[in-house]
Formats: sequence, C-alpha cells, structure tokens
Amino acid sequence: MNTTQTGRPASGAADRTRTAGSAFWIMTRRVTVMAGTVDVLLLLAFLAFDEPLVGWLNLLSIAIYVVAYRALKQRRNRLGLALIWVEVVTHAVVGTVWLGWHIGFHYYLLMFIPAIAVAAGGWQQAFLLGGVLTLYLSLDHWSVEHGPMHPMDPVGQELVYAINVVVVFVFAAYAARYYYQLVAESERRLRQLASTDPLTGLANRRHMLLQAEDVLVQARRIGVPTSVVLIDIDHFKQVNDTCGHEGGDAVLVHVAGLLAANCREADLLARWGGEEFLLVLAASDAEAGHMRAELVRRLVAESPVTVGEVRLPVTLSVGVTVAQPHEGLDEAIARADRALYASKSAGRDRVSLLG
Ligand code: GH3
Ligand code: MG
Ligand code: MG
Repeated sequence: MNTTQTGRPASGAADRTRTAGSAFWIMTRRVTVMAGTVDVLLLLAFLAFDEPLVGWLNLLSIAIYVVAYRALKQRRNRLGLALIWVEVVTHAVVGTVWLGWHIGFHYYLLMFIPAIAVAAGGWQQAFLLGGVLTLYLSLDHWSVEHGPMHPMDPVGQELVYAINVVVVFVFAAYAARYYYQLVAESERRLRQLASTDPLTGLANRRHMLLQAEDVLVQARRIGVPTSVVLIDIDHFKQVNDTCGHEGGDAVLVHVAGLLAANCREADLLARWGGEEFLLVLAASDAEAGHMRAELVRRLVAESPVTVGEVRLPVTLSVGVTVAQPHEGLDEAIARADRALYASKSAGRDRVSLLG
C-alpha cells in the first residue's frame, strides 16, 4: 500500500493498484495540468482587457505549475505540493487585493478544504484549515475596508469572475467524482477478495454459503431438485509429502480448473476446505447429480498432473445427495459428506449417492 500507517497519502514508490494515497497524487498531478490551462485562459483574458501586470503574473503561475507537475512526476511530492500552495495563495491574495473581492480568486482557497481533509491529519489538518480560513476571512475583511486597488474593466471583471466560478465548480465536481470512483473500485476489489479463494480463484466457503442458500430457496419456490456434490482429492497428503507444498498447490489448481471448466452457468462451485470442493447443481435430481459427479471423477482420473519431472495420477472421492425441500443447506452437506466417507471407505476414486 502506498499509504503511511496513519492512512495518509505517502510520497513513496508507486503502487500499481490505486490506493487512496496514490490516487491523491495522481489527482494532484492532473489538477496542476488543469490549473495551468486555466491560467493560460486567464492570461489571455487579462491581456485582452489591458491588464498586463496581472496578466504576466499569470505567466509566472503557469511556470510554477509546469515545475510543480515535473516535481510530482519525479515523486518530489512535497516540493510539488508546496509550489501549488504558493501559487494558489499568491493568486488569491494578489487577485483580491489588486482587482477586488468580486473577481472571485478567493474561491480557489475553498479547493484546499477537501485537499487538506484528504492529505493531512490531526493537528496539521486543524492548523492548515485554520490558516486557510483566517486568510479567507482576512481577504474578505480587507476588501470590505479598502475595495480594489485597481478595479478592472466591468466586462473583463465579469468574464474573469465567470471563469473562476466555473473552474471551481468543475474542480469540486471532478474531485468528488474521482474519490467516489476510487471508493467504488476499492469496494469492488474488497468484495472480490472476500469471496474468492486466492489459490484456485474459485469462490470460497463463505461466498458459497451465501449463494447456495439463494439457489435452494429459488429451487424450492419453483419445485425443482438441487444436487449437492462434495469432492475430495484422494491421498492428497502424499502429494505434499512427495512433491512439496508447491506440488500440492499445483494439483489443487489443476483440479479446480477441470471442475470449473465442467460447470454450467447455473452451477455453483467453491473450494470448500483444504483439498475439498463443493458443487451445487441447480435443477438436478439424484440421477443427474450422480452423472455429473461421475463425469468429473473420470475426467480428473484421466488427466494426471505434471509437477516438475513427476507425473502424478490424481483421483477424487465424491459424495452426492439431493437437498430435501424441508432441510437446510448444512443438512444436505452433512449427508453429502457421509456419502463421501462411503466412497473413501469403499476404496476411493468413486462416487457414492445418499438419497
Ligand atoms: P484422503 O484420501 O483420506 O482424503 O487423504 P488425504 O491425504 O487427501 O487427506 P488428509 O485430510 O489426511 O490430508 C489433507 C492434506 O491437505 C493435509 C493438508 O496439509 C493439505 N492441504 C490443505 N490445504 C492445502 C493447500 O492449500 N495446499 C497444499 N499444498 N496442501 C494443503
Ligand atoms: Mg479432506
Ligand atoms: Mg483427501
């Protein structure tokens, strides 16, 4: 994670996933580009309305944004951020004092509020927010007391004011949208992590329980049977003992792939435990469930895994049952487990059905 322990954006190396910290710096970089572009627009407006002094000050602002962008690209984040602060504060002070409150440069100070809330914490946050608030109120007070030092042409003033308000609206909407998308993306990633077995990529036990309950409720409602198939790799411990844990993992991935490739869209498949898998077959009676179980057993038995130089035969013991209308999923699974035990007792590499 590219965040510090307190969860604040860190200035360290890039993370390929978008964390809140890295997203902050990506957004800050984009903001420098947008702010630089706006300054070009303002430069043209000031030159058009015969305001060369503030116009050329805007040229300085553009230069600051160029340097800030380069600094942020080189991960000199503190320098980049300091330059942005200097530019925005100077722009707000000079713009307001010289051209008046109504020119609207003070609005840019408001953009610091979300940025500070995201990037600073504790006393630093309170200090920075207090500083920006004090500056904002001081500029307001100064403007009421003194008025503009150099009032601009009214048409030019309205134009620059409109540009400033539009830019602040767009920036605020962009920042809110960007962070919303970041939260939505993180939520999706977390949900996926919480429901997936990392080794095989199959659904995990927790996710299966949630999904299977829905399938059973639906099946009961429309009156169709559901088969529950519990699958266990035979003598798997021996694989670990002879080929190491990595070899065992390769076998798990191999079997998971074969099972997944033979699932229909309505089927549910999960890694149920260490070397156990659970299949829930919607709209399948005992005969159909048994047939499907036999199919995967044969398929796995006919597809040995190669681990390094070693070719390993893999067999499965399988227990099949049909969920009764009155029972819960756990009862059906317990019966499938007894059927599986029967397969083991009878010599493994087989399917047993318990109605
Ligand atoms: P049986 O035929 O009776 O099922 O015997 P078995 O050896 O398959 O079953 P047992 O329960 O004795 O051993 C299961 C082994 O699976 C023990 C455990 O170390 C191993 N195991 C569990 N999860 C993983 C995993 O994620 N990776 C690897 N490599 N091994 C695992
Ligand atoms: Mg087992
Ligand atoms: Mg086993």
